[in-house]
Amino acid sequence: MATVLSIADVEVGMEKWTAKVTAQEKQQVTSSISTPTRNQKFIFIDFEGSKVEGIIFNSDIAIMSPRIEVYKKYLISNAQVKRILDNFRTTELTKQWIITSRTIIEEIVDDEDVIAAKFTYTKFRDLAQYMDRKDISVGLLLQFLSLDIMGIVIAALDERNVTINSKEARVQKLVIVNEELQTLMLSMWNAFIDNEGSKIISDIQNYPVLIGRRLNVQNYNGVALSTWFDSAVLVNPPIQEAMELKNCQKDLRAGFTLIIFDLRASRNAKCLADIVEKRTYNRYNPDISCQADQKTTDISNISSKHKNVWVKASFSFENIFQKFWYIGCEKCFGSTSADYGAQFMCNTCKQKHKAEPRCKFDVDLSDDTGIVTATLFGDLAEKLLTFTAKEAMEHYFQNTALPLEILHEDIKSKKFLACIRPVQVPLADAKQRFTMVYYKEVSHDQVSIIDSSEQTLISPSAGETSSSKAKVCLLQKLDASAENMQLSSEALQSSPRKKPRQA
Ligand SMILES: [Zn+2]
Repeated sequence: MATVLSIADVEVGMEKWTAKVTAQEKQQVTSSISTPTRNQKFIFIDFEGSKVEGIIFNSDIAIMSPRIEVYKKYLISNAQVKRILDNFRTTELTKQWIITSRTIIEEIVDDEDVIAAKFTYTKFRDLAQYMDRKDISVGLLLQFLSLDIMGIVIAALDERNVTINSKEARVQKLVIVNEELQTLMLSMWNAFIDNEGSKIISDIQNYPVLIGRRLNVQNYNGVALSTWFDSAVLVNPPIQEAMELKNCQKDLRAGFTLIIFDLRASRNAKCLADIVEKRTYNRYNPDISCQADQKTTDISNISSKHKNVWVKASFSFENIFQKFWYIGCEKCFGSTSADYGAQFMCNTCKQKHKAEPRCKFDVDLSDDTGIVTATLFGDLAEKLLTFTAKEAMEHYFQNTALPLEILHEDIKSKKFLACIRPVQVPLADAKQRFTMVYYKEVSHDQVSIIDSSEQTLISPSAGETSSSKAKVCLLQKLDASAENMQLSSEALQSSPRKKPRQA
């Protein structure tokens, strides 16, 4: 056998060669937009840390793809070596090995370190800036920025079927937790569900490690991620086990291992279980999406076209006569006429669950330009009300008003930074309703006001350099509509009757 070369030594056009590599990534089979060509890409890495793209086309995929498993080591010989044309580059890699049914691939098992890669991953809180990239090439931008995220998967939601452009698609959401115990949802699409998704779910009780590469950043509950045609999802990469065994060498990689080790440590067990149990990941994630210098919109400039609107406002609900709670499904919060505590078949999530009181009430938000009413739900509502849903319900049944006088006075003296979003109401003539997804108290001069045109619009806007978050993304719209379904079912709760407002 010829000398075993490193990736860097295998030059474009070279014919007789053998290199030893680890399959670091195995992407899904994708079709090109303009031709019927299908291809599957791989990323190979060697002991020096050099990388090269592997690619298999069309009928060779069925033959060769099963031969190459991610994280395994191979001797690969005599693949055709080409330069990747700029138009076809989806990563920073410039060379490509074309693997055909004639390529020689031999798996090797030895004691050498499995992967020499180091991952520099993006912090969850830094993702929001990538959401601002408004055109469809955001995926491409991210690739070159090498946007990797890392975390452990603590829960997987049920797979759903959706229709995009009259094509059926499947999506499954995973809940990822990072080293700061922040959560982020990752939508896995189609083949990702069958391949990496099934691996994750079979190991979910151990909180599998996930590295997501070249993911799409979406505006959903603040920030969310989605797989993309050439994303890669690495499940339990061996780098971690290797490092744990070696007791964390002073290596960049040790940081990675320590983080995972730390995350899974027993002191976090309760916290992780809590996230799963209370499904806090469904909430707006302000830690990740609220910027330190969050821009806000004048209330008079709010339009139903906004997706999320940040306002700086005073709160008041003194003049709104309302119940402060409703009975809903303990799991999905869908409203029900079932009695408190009863097990019932929920029409929203189609499962049998207990009927529990949930806090819900309207608040008027006002600034110098106008007033808008928004509804708060759940924990966020309880926090502002300073009473639990159960307490509110008990007062209601005892026919006594909640003692809120001090609270009303207290709120009057405060200013809040709040994020509200329009609720899609089925009735065309109904008043536009808003849900408050987040609020925090701020000092009086903390936030700057900007024009509403700079806020997150659903429709695209012109202008290359504006910071508009107007990225039109089908997946994002899908997510949004699913969410609106839930929110509007909440919004369809008996609407609070209003006392006439004092002049
Ligand atoms: Zn339910």
